[in-house]
Amino acid sequence: MGPSRNSPCPCGSGRKYKRCCFAEAELAAREARFDNAVGQRIREWASQTMDDQLGLALEQFAAPNRAMTDGDLELFATWFHNDRELPGGGTPAERYAARTDLPARERATAARIATARPGLHRVLAVEPGSWIVLEDVLDGTRIRVRSPHASRGVVRWDLVLGRVMDGDPPSLWGAMRSFEPSDETELIAELRRLAGAGSEERDAAVLSRTLREHALQLARFVPPAWKVEPSFHTLEGDPVAHGSATWRIHDLAAVSDLLRRLGGLRDDDVLEIDITAPREQLVRRRPELPSGALVIQSGPTDDLDRVSIATLRIERSCLHAETISEQRLDQVIEIVALDFGDHLELVDREVVPVERALEEHRSAPTDIAPLTADERGLTGIVLTDRLRRWLDEPHPLLEGRTPRDAAASDHRTTVLGLLRSIENQAERACRRGEAFADVTWIRRELGVESEVAA
Ligand SMILES: [Zn+2]
Repeated sequence: MGPSRNSPCPCGSGRKYKRCCFAEAELAAREARFDNAVGQRIREWASQTMDDQLGLALEQFAAPNRAMTDGDLELFATWFHNDRELPGGGTPAERYAARTDLPARERATAARIATARPGLHRVLAVEPGSWIVLEDVLDGTRIRVRSPHASRGVVRWDLVLGRVMDGDPPSLWGAMRSFEPSDETELIAELRRLAGAGSEERDAAVLSRTLREHALQLARFVPPAWKVEPSFHTLEGDPVAHGSATWRIHDLAAVSDLLRRLGGLRDDDVLEIDITAPREQLVRRRPELPSGALVIQSGPTDDLDRVSIATLRIERSCLHAETISEQRLDQVIEIVALDFGDHLELVDREVVPVERALEEHRSAPTDIAPLTADERGLTGIVLTDRLRRWLDEPHPLLEGRTPRDAAASDHRTTVLGLLRSIENQAERACRRGEAFADVTWIRRELGVESEVAA
């Protein structure tokens, strides 16, 4: 579905769509339908005349003991018809295009399909339902392709392994795979590995050829990072766990008084306080985390520079503490011993690893309503605020320097990679109607201009 005929043309000419780009779009859609019909005839012809080769190819493609999904079957079909050489040379699409018994237009289209070779592209810009601007990751060339369907599934900075097909306008052909910006390093490493010895240089020509010759391996490639189980950590880098402790109170009046003083509570307030620590101190302590690590941040407190590391509350004649790591629990037990001394006595200390806590959470019946527009807006503000802090916090990928410092130095390329991931995630969340951080200011703030000029 394109724009309606009487609406202003999306090209920005100011004229009505039907008097502007409409005819061209209609023509392009008609051409695309013809391309697809030829693609279908190539498949039918191949299945009738190359049955044995299809069977062999399927054995090559399918992983043992693993069911093929619809997506796998599409990848297989594209690989079989466009990339896999038959005995005696030529792919099925090339053989079809060489048939002298076909009309000229059919053969010309089949030839265009046959030359649509796999490439690794970065999404620079996208208009869902219409087009995508792609940059070849290996040689840097840029192209705008017509894409009524794939454009709905990708966002800026995604990487796509797919085929650009010649035409007016150019388009995408066959099944493609998309990856996150952070997968680029592993994709390039895999290409180098497939290219073999002597390909230390990122030689575009060598790697492009490798991409074509190893289309099968790449169609099935799973970046190592995808196989890493996520692990959860606190801001200071400890594994997340549910920690709790209970003290029996000997002198309730004295303990209540102390708690009120510690938390600045009034007489009629609930007897519950947060123990906080300076955020900066926690972050500075954080060691390098394993890949797949996710840092869990508690919600914002009144003071944005401090983070709650534990809650303390008095209930009946006991004091209870809750934390999100064993280390924080031990810390709070020490604090309580120092501040409350002999007025109470530790009677229980428990640590539940996060995996078990998550399982319990998952098995519990949940009824989580989607966020309202207001809640989305508020969550977006929190996310944006976190991003502002992120600029000035040491980052493990930047040898402990902050993104702001690193952007002005030789770590600039790494910072650009991180920025792409951030913008990519925000755009994907926005597309899905989820809360997202405002990222429009961040490049200006870092003095890093967009890599894409309009
Ligand atoms: Zn127009």
